[in-house]
Amino acid sequence: MSAPLRNYLEFYRDLGIAELFVDPPPAGEAAPAPAPADSADPAGQLQVIQNDIGDCTRCRLHKGRHSIVFGSGNPLAKVVFVGEGPGADEDAQGLPFVGRAGQLLTRMIEKTCAKEGLPVRRNDVYICNVVKCRPPDNRAPEKDEMEICGRFLERQLQAIAPKAVCVLGGTAAKALLRTTAGITKLRGNWQRWGDIPVMPTFHPSYLLRAYNAEAKRLAWEDLKKLFHLAYD
Ligand code: SF4
Repeated sequence: MSAPLRNYLEFYRDLGIAELFVDPPPAGEAAPAPAPADSADPAGQLQVIQNDIGDCTRCRLHKGRHSIVFGSGNPLAKVVFVGEGPGADEDAQGLPFVGRAGQLLTRMIEKTCAKEGLPVRRNDVYICNVVKCRPPDNRAPEKDEMEICGRFLERQLQAIAPKAVCVLGGTAAKALLRTTAGITKLRGNWQRWGDIPVMPTFHPSYLLRAYNAEAKRLAWEDLKKLFHLAYD
């Protein structure tokens, strides 16, 4: 085997990929999830994934990061939230969704569930991003960065095997669902990642803008559907 090919295969092995799929799904079909992993020990599996990431330099985003934001929450979560990438506060603290948008997400989760009579707090769900390092100047992650780091996200979802996933914003939705459709079209309608139902909704940072009161109402509706599917 040639050295470049060996390096290439080792790179993918580091990412935890046993098989390579190169064809995108035909339009209208669910995005393919890798074969389900043994989910007997989600916390242990998450630790293995985090160890595999290590001091990652697999994409250019490593250059400007202060910390790798792996994800946080309950490894046995019924619901996983997926954003696009860390911002400044998250990069500083090493935790996802801790800035203003994160505080809004916490309120959205807890208030929706309280109103719907569901015993769910932020610590009960799991929260992570498609890319684990902060893109410079808060730009959106590039396609190749999401391809590379998205493999870790897929392993996180396999490990946790939640009842439902909520993708936050168009960039994360496009990455996870492999679609070109925008978030306004996708939100509120169930999609699938393998066997797992996925609810796309607006990113909390979009909802923070004062003129987005209607979008906020719609996002709350989306979360109601999400939590009822996972907890009823
Ligand atoms: S964004 Fe992901 S793939 Fe890129 S350097 Fe960070 S951890 Fe590695």
